[in-house]
Amino acid sequence: MDRNARIYVAGHRGLVGSAILRKLREAGFRNILARDRRELDLTDQAAVTRFFAEARPEYVFLAAARVGGIRANSSFPADFIRDNLLIQTHVIDASRRFGTAKLLFLGSSCIYPRLAPQPIREEYLLSGPLEPTNEWYAVAKIAGIKMVQSFRRQYGFRGICLMPTNLYGPGDNFDPEGSHVIPALIRRFHEAKMAGAREVVVWGSGTPRREFLYVDDLADACILLMKIYDGEEIVNVGSGEEVAIAELAEAVRKTVGFEGNIRFDLSRPDGTPRKLLDSSRIRSLGWKPAIRLAEGLKSTYEWFLSQVAAK
Ligand code: GDP
Repeated sequence: MDRNARIYVAGHRGLVGSAILRKLREAGFRNILARDRRELDLTDQAAVTRFFAEARPEYVFLAAARVGGIRANSSFPADFIRDNLLIQTHVIDASRRFGTAKLLFLGSSCIYPRLAPQPIREEYLLSGPLEPTNEWYAVAKIAGIKMVQSFRRQYGFRGICLMPTNLYGPGDNFDPEGSHVIPALIRRFHEAKMAGAREVVVWGSGTPRREFLYVDDLADACILLMKIYDGEEIVNVGSGEEVAIAELAEAVRKTVGFEGNIRFDLSRPDGTPRKLLDSSRIRSLGWKPAIRLAEGLKSTYEWFLSQVAAK
């Protein structure tokens, strides 16, 4: 990838796409293409074809997706499977037809079986049943992986697939019901602190364990793989730092400076009990995370204060 290469970041307004865009700019890439949803609807095949025919991106980071937390996934299963299948099919197919040199497809750790052995190795894909709260999203992402792999086999298309663990950071969605756990808790603890409330409710039992990765670290991994990796095998990217949701809630409470109690709402789902990726493949390629959870929570809270709470 030279500095003048035409690079398309699909989903540049999202958590992952905006981090990739930031990192590419910092690294001196000058020819970055981005279109927001009003300019280019990726669920519209004709519009995607027109865009690729004109812009002819040489490198594509496919970070556009309909994403959401445990509640959004189970409330809108049709949106999650439909939009993701459409977006990824259109972008992957147009990339191949219009001569893109390389495409990176972003999956998710929820593609793995619900009860996969931990830490989860790449080869556990399709070895058991999925977690039901997000199977619609997972099935779409698995189809995306298989599409990229089949294009490589049949057309020699240079597509690669990266599976990130649970992500967080600046640019996340802080919607109280639809978001993932970290932005949801940052917002809830913050609002409780402002209102002088005595307690904050955290969904589920607090016992599920999750691995969290700060999105800038993920963006570094995306750019590294785009530069040096060209294989059919999918690549996990996780921090190796795993916490129980109860510990996470405590860490967010401290970050925000809320003095009250935490109550667990057992009527809300826990989701999968544990989801820790084995990231030895990406580590052997020279990547490691730089931002620990405490530090990442602090900068995410600062971003929330300046960009969300202030508005
Ligand atoms: P998941 O990894 O796909 O389950 O994604 P989430 O980030 O939505 O949820 C992670 C875990 O945090 C689950 O066990 C949730 O039940 C728990 N959790 C606790 N409080 C919240 C909350 O306010 N919002 C969300 N989304 N999850 C929460």
